[in-house]
Amino acid sequence: TEGMNAQDLAKILHRSAAEIVKKLFMLGVMVNQNQSLDKDTIEILAADYGIEAKEKVQEDIADLDKFFDDEQKNQEHMVPRPPVVTVMGHVDHGKTTLLDKIRHSHVTAHEAGGITQAIGAYQVRYNDQLITFLDTPGHAAFSEMRARGANITDITVLVVAADDGVMPQTIEAINHAKAAKTPIIVAVNKIDKPGANPDHVTEQLTEYGLVPEDWGGDTIFVKISAKFDKNIDELLDMILLQAEMMELKANPEQRAAGSVVEARLDQGRGPVATLLVQQGTMHVGDPIVVGNTFGRVRTMNNENGRKIKKATPSTPVEITGLNDVPQAGDRFVVFEDEKTARAAGEERAKRAQEEERARTSHVTLDNLFDTM
Ligand code: GDP
Ligand code: MG
Repeated sequence: TEGMNAQDLAKILHRSAAEIVKKLFMLGVMVNQNQSLDKDTIEILAADYGIEAKEKVQEDIADLDKFFDDEQKNQEHMVPRPPVVTVMGHVDHGKTTLLDKIRHSHVTAHEAGGITQAIGAYQVRYNDQLITFLDTPGHAAFSEMRARGANITDITVLVVAADDGVMPQTIEAINHAKAAKTPIIVAVNKIDKPGANPDHVTEQLTEYGLVPEDWGGDTIFVKISAKFDKNIDELLDMILLQAEMMELKANPEQRAAGSVVEARLDQGRGPVATLLVQQGTMHVGDPIVVGNTFGRVRTMNNENGRKIKKATPSTPVEITGLNDVPQAGDRFVVFEDEKTARAAGEERAKRAQEEERARTSHVTLDNLFDTM
């Protein structure tokens, strides 16, 4: 048994599970019927159903604790998953060079020879472990994604050029990482350059609370040259070390859920979305709701444009089959059946439209007051 989910709540509240799921959507919580809910969500939902329902849920609070205990015992369903890493830093400090170098030197074996990256995320195998890299989505996109509640990065690699030092976008990146509460690994890049001064960079970064271990802090610093492939494996070692400390886990047994990395409209294929699977396993054919869109996973490709049938946690995939183009940072959830997925998707689209209308009419009112 999982923790308390929409189905359990449905029984307590004498409603249908579909209604509970729908209601949760209205409250901005995107789950499928089997996904366990946290205490806050359950309380909000109870409040939404009014006192009568609230009492019924309260009766069950004791049981709730039991459910949460059960979930603790359920850790056996949770298995380690690869870390998801975002590379950030000031323009021209070497992010793309680093990502390319990592990708080309640690391609998953069976892909060797055929690497044309199709999507903005990829996985590498290093020391028999997988690491997922997200192509730096640009800081603005990153903060917008976070604003929409997407927390897709486990670790931020901050690239700082040793000949240039801390620059405005370096500080921005630090702030983003701090806001997202992801640990930062500093990659001091371009150490091959004549004007490189890694110690100066380190000194500058201490002002932002990034202090290396040999200076008494706890931030991992690696001096690299992305261009000349120096210490890149050491950086990967440090990423795996950091990931190990974080004990990243997910349950591959449940239906898939995760976030949109990017999405676009393709002339021939229709809406195309790059998704990061964060929980569960996704399969071709799955009914799915993605943000305010819905559909069925028609095709699923890996980052090399190859067709795959299933995707486990931390895997980036590109899918088609949606009725519309979702937004980066949107959450997605796989549903049991297409009918519920459609109902949920349509409900969400309707709500988004209403919100938009309310927002624009509000602006109009404001304007009206301004002119009075
Ligand atoms: P991005 O804007 O952060 O993605 O930076 P790029 O990866 O595009 O790199 C900007 C420039 O710096 C390019 O001309 C790279 O060849 C160069 N570059 C990147 N890494 C290194 C390095 O380790 N050493 C040297 N000398 N140049 C580098
Ligand atoms: Mg770049």
